[in-house]
Amino acid sequence: MGPFKLLIDGQLVDGDATMSVINPANEEVLAECPRASKAQLDKAVAAAKAAFPAWAARPIAERKAALNAMADAIQADLPNLARILTQEQGKPINDAMGEVFGCAAFFRYFAALDLPVKVIQDNEAGKVEARRRPLGVVGAIVPWNFPLILMAFKVPAALLAGNTVILKPAATTPLSTLRIAELVKDLLPAGVLNVISDANDLGGAITAHPDIRKVSFTGSTETGKKVMAGAAEALKRVTLELGGNDAAIVLEGSDPKETAPKIFQGAFQNSGQVCIAIKRAYVHESIYDAMCDELVKLANAAVVGDGLQQGVTLGPLQNKTQFEKVLGIIESAKADGKVIAGGARATEKGYFIQPTIVRDITDGTRLVDEEQFGPVLPVIKFKDAVDAVARANSSDYGLGGSIWSKDLDKAWDLASTMDTGTVWINKHADLAPNIPFGGAKLSGVGTELGEEGLSEFTQLHVINMARA
Ligand code: NAD
Repeated sequence: MGPFKLLIDGQLVDGDATMSVINPANEEVLAECPRASKAQLDKAVAAAKAAFPAWAARPIAERKAALNAMADAIQADLPNLARILTQEQGKPINDAMGEVFGCAAFFRYFAALDLPVKVIQDNEAGKVEARRRPLGVVGAIVPWNFPLILMAFKVPAALLAGNTVILKPAATTPLSTLRIAELVKDLLPAGVLNVISDANDLGGAITAHPDIRKVSFTGSTETGKKVMAGAAEALKRVTLELGGNDAAIVLEGSDPKETAPKIFQGAFQNSGQVCIAIKRAYVHESIYDAMCDELVKLANAAVVGDGLQQGVTLGPLQNKTQFEKVLGIIESAKADGKVIAGGARATEKGYFIQPTIVRDITDGTRLVDEEQFGPVLPVIKFKDAVDAVARANSSDYGLGGSIWSKDLDKAWDLASTMDTGTVWINKHADLAPNIPFGGAKLSGVGTELGEEGLSEFTQLHVINMARA
């Protein structure tokens, strides 16, 4: 595997230092990886700044062609990229293939968008036009749970709009991103896309860099606050996609056998390391026991193991810090509720945790109130649906949520009272490139995806002319 290089000013280069990337399935060193210095970051930003005017001046058709070529290159390397992704991130290989495929598809989606000029007025009194101009150099900072798809929320939109980019993956999952850098290096002019990997120490320098005009950040709420503070001095634009504590509210009349597998998938996909995973299940008292029983069956049937092995459905936690954090939350849940499946690490080696279901637990406990970001789901009983929504809304987070019911009108009405960026009905965590996505409250600022997401990589520019 490798060698992996940084992409700075169109050149693949070594880092000023190196670091080891660990495979979470066996805790062994997977590969050595370049670690960029602050000087290399500055060089990348200087290259991006120099490349910006020419890239922004290109006809949009040429930028679209470049994005499509990038999509082709990513898709052509799908098996290799997916293997790297599974080994650094942990997810089952089929999910990794889905992520790589989705990444290419998101590039193609943005390649098909335009930034039309909006004519607001055109008459004898005058003419008013609203245009969308690129911002300049954009910093794209990505976490470790979905290194490629979350990168594809940002990079193609930024490039299509005419910006140049500094892309930084998370310190524990840089390899698949660096492989993409290698694949696309000759498809863009030098400096248009720069990729640097760090030891979790250059994010602040990106945020504060005077020549970076916008930071598009996905990660934890805690770090998101630092990004916002760091961006304040230069009033840099920020888009922040942060943590969540999504509630699924399962109404009376739902069929547990039909609903439980979908709830399970929504909670345990990627071993629960999904910003929009179901992190709390509120279940009506009439079906509470039956839902708990179905969820236990699914947890016991899940195959936990190395994502490269066929048949594995749940991989390891991505890193040791997260692994230990989730085990700590499970310990606290043992005192706050009743563990009816799992409840411990799954193997001696590797960051594996048994899929864990906790019942007879309620709000005000660590597992329910915090973002667990791991394979453990609290199942909470409720009597009244309006009260359940109020409890779901009492979280400081507001990323997503879902209502599950056979009565679609009732579900729709309740959905409209949920204080989150997205509410799904009878599904959860369904994202598509054309559907805008963003969080309420502590879950974020701004929007990604869709035309709304694209416009966040632009500056509104109005020309207002008098004719009379
Ligand atoms: P994190 O905040 O620790 O790190 C995210 C990225 O920020 C990494 O690349 C990291 O190196 C970088 N970083 C670290 N310190 C920084 C600083 N001071 N300034 C700028 N960047 C800095 O998050 P994580 O633990 O990698 O990811 C998990 C979190 O991400 C969870 O809370 C999850 O809910 C959230 N997340 C949100 C979304 C969303 O779209 N809302 C999607 C995926 C993950």
